[in-house]
Amino acid sequence: MGFSETGAGSDVTAMTTRIEVSGDSVVLDGHKVWVTGAHYADLLVVFGQCEGGAAVVVVPTSAPGVQVERVADPLGCRAAGHANVRFDSVRLPLSSLLGTPGMPLPLLDTTALAYGRISVAWGCVGILRACRNTAARHAASRVQFGKPLNEHQLVADHLADLFVAEQVATQSCAHASACWDAGSPDLVVATVLAKHVSAGHAARGAATAMQVLASAGARDGHVVARAYRDAKLMEIIEGSNEICQVILAQHAVATAQ
Ligand SMILES: Cc1cc2nc3c(=O)[nH]c(=O)nc-3n(C[C@H](O)[C@H](O)[C@H](O)COP(=O)(O)OP(=O)(O)OC[C@H]3O[C@@H](n4cnc5c(N)ncnc54)[C@H](O)[C@@H]3O)c2cc1C
Repeated sequence: MGFSETGAGSDVTAMTTRIEVSGDSVVLDGHKVWVTGAHYADLLVVFGQCEGGAAVVVVPTSAPGVQVERVADPLGCRAAGHANVRFDSVRLPLSSLLGTPGMPLPLLDTTALAYGRISVAWGCVGILRACRNTAARHAASRVQFGKPLNEHQLVADHLADLFVAEQVATQSCAHASACWDAGSPDLVVATVLAKHVSAGHAARGAATAMQVLASAGARDGHVVARAYRDAKLMEIIEGSNEICQVILAQHAVATAQ
């Protein structure tokens, strides 16, 4: 799913990719960055400016004019095949358009991002479960100063924080998913809330788990080391922490009684 561009990150309305309807074709010109999965994908869903609004097209990566370049050495999520993708006069059949051209971009991206946000939020729960389990097992079995680490109060405090983080993230995600299942209009805000809460807890929780593991987790490929790298990215993707805060603040004002 390609929204982001070099000059359009948090502000997707600044995107310059153009989708032009021309007879029974659409023509796509632009450059997307950090498209998750694009290195492996056969099809990309690409957003662009169109007829005074926005449009979305499905683009085969094999189409003439599409150039996919994998992002080298990402900090985390290394199996996710992030790629930058260039589109040079890519001509596609009109049936490649999803929906109606000229729709408001904020409407399109809110809908699309809600799907991404709920999956990122639950992914953060997975990160926290792995961190809590690994840290707790390690703290219960590693002895220093004559007793297991979990019997040192400062380490026990870390384990309690991890448990709280996992529970809070799980409950906020479960609430958001219940809103989806019920088709509730609250689902957009509940999903932003779940993403924001879970990503923050995952980033702090992974750092806490690293502290409990110490050298035992400090090598590439260890589950907690991987969680530590991946979790930081969860605070950036699908609406950064700050963008989630802006949305939640707007909701706080709009619903004030
Ligand atoms: C691992 C990974 C996967 C990604 N996958 C995809 C993908 O599949 N498809 C896609 O289209 N994009 C993807 N992206 C791009 C991602 O959506 C952007 O990185 C994200 O939107 C932030 O944009 P930016 O990096 O340009 O940061 P910027 O927008 O430059 O922001 C920099 C900092 O300023 C803050 N900031 C910006 N505006 C405001 C504001 N108004 N108020 C307060 N703070 C603000 C941000 O929160 C951030 O902390 C991915 C990125 C990463 C790292």
